[in-house]
Formats: sequence, structure tokens, C-alpha cells
Amino acid sequence: MKICMIGTGYVGLVSGTCFAELGNHVICADINTIKIKKLNKCSIPIYEPGLEELVKRNFKQGRLKFSSDISSSIKYSDIIFICVGTPTNKKTNTANLKYVFNVTNTIKNNLNKYKVIVTKSTVPVTTGDKIEKILDIKKNKNKFDVISNPEFLREGEAIRDFMYPDRVVVGTSSKKPNNIMKNLYLPIIKNKSRYFNTSRRASELIKYASNAFLATKITYINEMANLCEKSNIDVKDVATGMGFDERIGDRFLRAGPGYGGSCFPKDTRALVSTAKKFKTNLSIVKSVIKSNDNRNKILMSRIDKIMSNNLKNKKISFLGVTFKAGTDDMRESPALNIIPSLVKKGATINYYDPSGKKNIFKSKKIKFSKNIKDACSNSDLLIIHSEWNEFKQLNFKKLVKRKNFKVFDMRNLYSPDKMKKSSIKYFGIGR
Ligand code: NAD
Repeated sequence: MKICMIGTGYVGLVSGTCFAELGNHVICADINTIKIKKLNKCSIPIYEPGLEELVKRNFKQGRLKFSSDISSSIKYSDIIFICVGTPTNKKTNTANLKYVFNVTNTIKNNLNKYKVIVTKSTVPVTTGDKIEKILDIKKNKNKFDVISNPEFLREGEAIRDFMYPDRVVVGTSSKKPNNIMKNLYLPIIKNKSRYFNTSRRASELIKYASNAFLATKITYINEMANLCEKSNIDVKDVATGMGFDERIGDRFLRAGPGYGGSCFPKDTRALVSTAKKFKTNLSIVKSVIKSNDNRNKILMSRIDKIMSNNLKNKKISFLGVTFKAGTDDMRESPALNIIPSLVKKGATINYYDPSGKKNIFKSKKIKFSKNIKDACSNSDLLIIHSEWNEFKQLNFKKLVKRKNFKVFDMRNLYSPDKMKKSSIKYFGIGR
């Protein structure tokens, strides 16, 4: 099939490359000409394990192309995936759909033959209806179908998630586009994934309802962690004990810094706004947002306590600044709040992240180190912020030269007992 991904970001690039790997002819299109130029030299703009190899193979074999000519890419293709961003509209907390509608207008001007137009971007309920309206369904009947096919991949695991998804959700009430999508996903569905065809609006909501539920699970265990800290219980034991119950499951029950990234924060906000539009009160999701927003404050007061309220001139090593391991994505990472707050209180930061230096930190008091050793050698406090594998087996006593250094493990990667035996002043979350 001839496919066009409009928007070559985390979702467009990964899913486009995977569709090419499955034997389709794919154009990944983007208005960012620098990105496209780089991709045409097989230089990958994001950190995603395994992606470079897959891009190179499919590019060389001619199934994967990159273009900034959006109109020609649309004309060439039978299936158009809209994969542009849907960030929060800061004034209203709604999803900003201007990129989606810009693309829709370009599609409208290039409807040269029948096309399936798919929203892969996370879009609020009724966005499909609006796209259909812009495309003038009355005038252009039989020239297109607008359907929803939300993406569930996780950064850091994106290729595996795309190739072996738990489910493929396709929202359409029309047979023709449903059959086309079923065919497209056939090699993946064969890998035991479930193909679920539902209404377009249900499909749109499934994505938000799923993300809000996962955000709730994270926030729930984070609040339990707060209670555990006060009652001398290890939250890891609580999560394990809860997780044995198959109705609950142990995934997303790991206490840590609040949830961040490019999806959960914006999607929970957008879901609440959608509900408001439909005059419904999603009080649980609202509380989750509030609790998660408050998480940075709780972590800061914990750090204050660990350092006896004296952060002035303290050297803090920060391991991992992205919102989680396996990605270079800094969007809404808790580190973006915690690091500046530490600096404000007089600390200097040496950070190391396996995905590289982050230009977002402008202060001279925040320095990037090229390796863990350089970041930690002079440390008063070592903070583990994201759970990269290379942070899991550290010999703290060899790493840090200072005598009375402390470790704050925000991901509970280490055993408090072992740390105690090694006389390391170690603090975790909810323990
Ligand atoms: P991104 O910001 O990484 O990429 C979006 C791309 O769209 C950018 O490269 C941008 O230049 C391009 N773009 C913007 N306007 C365009 C236009 N008119 N024509 C062509 N290209 C245009 O975004 P992302 O993280 O890939 O997310 C895309 C969507 O997928 C969002 O709705 C997001 O919620 C959803 N999603 C993201 C993830 C994830 O892990 N990142 C997972 C599932 C779903």
C-alpha cells in the first residue's frame, strides 16, 4: 500500500518506518525541512532504540522516503496518517488542534483520488467529525473516509510496541476503510494482537481514557508512597502485594517522580476539557492532575529534609533528566521543575543523561557531564531521576569522592538494606 505519514516526529517516524518494514511504500512528510534533510542522510532526529537500523534498511531498499513536499506526498498515497502534535492550549487547557487542521486543509487541496484519512495523533472526541466537515464530505463524497487509529506506542519501546501491540483500535463505521486498515495491520494482528473496530468517537476516547487510567495508576501509587514514608512501610512491597491481584496487575505501580512526557500531562488536561464541553465532571482525572502537579513540591521538601534544609553551595549530581529512561524527550519532565528549584536554593547541578546534553537548561549552575563518573565525583547529593539501565549497578563509594555524600533514588533501583550495610546514606521514594 502507498502510505503517507504527515508529521515525522516520535509517532510518524516510528510507525512510518514500521509500516515500511512490513512491505508498504511509505513517505514520511514533515514541514521541518532540516529534519527531512537529515533523515534523507539517514540521520535520526530522536533517540529510539533500534530505529536507526530499521530506517537505514528500509530507506536503502526504497520503501521508505522522506519529503517536505506535503502536497505531492498526499497525492501519491492511498492512506494518509495525520501524526502531528496536539499540545496543550495553555489558555484553555484543551488540545491545540491547529496542526491537525492545517494538515486537513492541505489534504483537502490534494484529494486527487480516494484516500483513507487516519488520525493517529491523539485528538479529542468529535475531531474526526470536524475533519470530515473541513474536507467537505457533501461535495467530496466517495473521495475519502476519515477514521481514527490512535497510537499506543511508548517512547523507548516504540518499535516493539508498534510491531507487537496489545491492540489495534480502528474507529470507523464504514466497511471500506475498515477492510483497508485490517489488511494493512494484518501482519501485526497475526502476532496475536487484537484488532478492534469501533465507532470513530469511541476510538478517539479509548486513547484518552487509557492514558488517563495509566496516569491515575502512577499517581495512586505515588500517593501510597507518601503514606508509606510516614508509616515506615516500603511502597515496593505494597505495589508487589497489590500487583499479584490480576485485576490490578503490577505494571505502572512504581512510585517515583510524577508522570511526565509528551502524552499523560497533556492528555489528562485535554480529557477534562472535553468532559467539560459535554457538561460532565471527571473528578478523578481532575484530582490526578492536581496530585501530579503537586508531586514536585513533595519531592523538593523531601530533598530539603535529606539535606537538612541546606542546599546552599551543595553539589548535586542528577542522573537522567528525561521523563523516563529510553528516550531523549524532555517534554514535561519532572526534572524541568526540580533542577531549577534546586538551583534557586543555591545548589549547583552536574547532570548526566545517556541521551545527551539538553539545551533547555540555560543556567551556568547546571552543567552536563559526559559520563556518570564526571557527574558524580564531587557530589554532596546524588539523585537518580530516571531508570536507565546504566544507573542500576553503580558503586557509589567508588564514584563519589566526598565522604558524607547522600543518595536519593527517585526510582527505588537499590535495596535500602544493602545500602545500609555499605554505610551509604540512602533514601528512596515511599520507603
Ligand atoms: P512530535 O512533536 O514529535 O512530532 C510532530 C511533527 O509534526 C513535527 O516533526 C512537526 O514538524 C510536524 N508537523 C507539524 N505541523 C505539520 C504540518 N502541517 N505538516 C507536516 N508536518 C507537520 O509529536 P509526537 O510525539 O510524534 O506526537 C504526535 C501525536 O501522537 C500527538 O498527538 C501525540 O499525543 C500522539 N502520541 C504520541 C506518542 C509519543 O510517545 N510521543 C505516543 C502515542 C501518541
